[in-house]
Amino acid sequence: YAERFGGQLVLVTGAASGIGRATAFAFAEAGARVVAVDRDAEGAARTAEMARLIGAPEAWGEAVDVSDEQAMEKLAATVAAEYGIVDVLVNNAGIGLTGSFLETTSEEWKRVLDVNLWGVIHGCRIFGAQMAARGQGGHIVNTASAAAFQPSRALPAYNTSKAAVLMLSECLRAELAGRSIGVSAICPGIVNTNITATTRFAGVSDTAEEKRRQRKASRLYGLRNYPPEKVADAILGAVLHDRAVVPVTPEARGVHALSR
Ligand code: NAD
Repeated sequence: YAERFGGQLVLVTGAASGIGRATAFAFAEAGARVVAVDRDAEGAARTAEMARLIGAPEAWGEAVDVSDEQAMEKLAATVAAEYGIVDVLVNNAGIGLTGSFLETTSEEWKRVLDVNLWGVIHGCRIFGAQMAARGQGGHIVNTASAAAFQPSRALPAYNTSKAAVLMLSECLRAELAGRSIGVSAICPGIVNTNITATTRFAGVSDTAEEKRRQRKASRLYGLRNYPPEKVADAILGAVLHDRAVVPVTPEARGVHALSR
């Protein structure tokens, strides 16, 4: 995608790690100016620094928790004033949570929905309004998951958050189509990132039990080795070709086909 995004301003959330970082780099390589947003300030700054080395004419790191509506409003105002209106927004920040429905506490449900769902809603609403007001089009990409198509016993809160992200993306796509603003939902299967290492286990207080479950989960995740760079490529492709729902990884394509 060399130079395909030259002159464009791209904002990626969850850009300190995994899919978000790979996406920031891919847009940098394609010539975009990049805003790397993450609650991890140091990681966001590092992504920005590397993005400049890779080819972004300009890149900035911003420390923001996407679930914090006021912080997102402030981010949007700062970015608009200092760097310009965002052409491509990638709402990618997300957290995992393993644990059965009945084991998951309401606080744990809230935290997952606050980040994975509300973080995306804030991004779409606040930056989408800026794009619409400018009247020159744009694109919003939301990282959902293959978990949006297929229920599981292991990750019910996560599944629920991602199904909601898929639906809100399709609703927003219909609403913004007339304004030349595309909306895409990216739905990866299992990708080799830190999320598997940082996923918390609901309802587990005993550390020995937690360790056992983490070993089991990492064995499961270890079966797959899909690189985040390929998800980043799918994200750039979704923007360039204005794709609505994009399953990425073989198992995601499989469950997507079965769900229709
Ligand atoms: P990751 O843990 O490597 O990266 C996630 C990043 O998001 C981290 O840098 C983290 O600090 C940041 N983040 C988390 N909560 C945040 C918040 N409240 N505010 C700002 N930043 C926050 O994981 P990843 O696999 O790259 O995940 C990226 C997205 O892809 C997530 O939405 C995830 O659900 C989705 N996804 C991942 C997989 C997979 O197998 N890795 C599969 C499908 C979907």
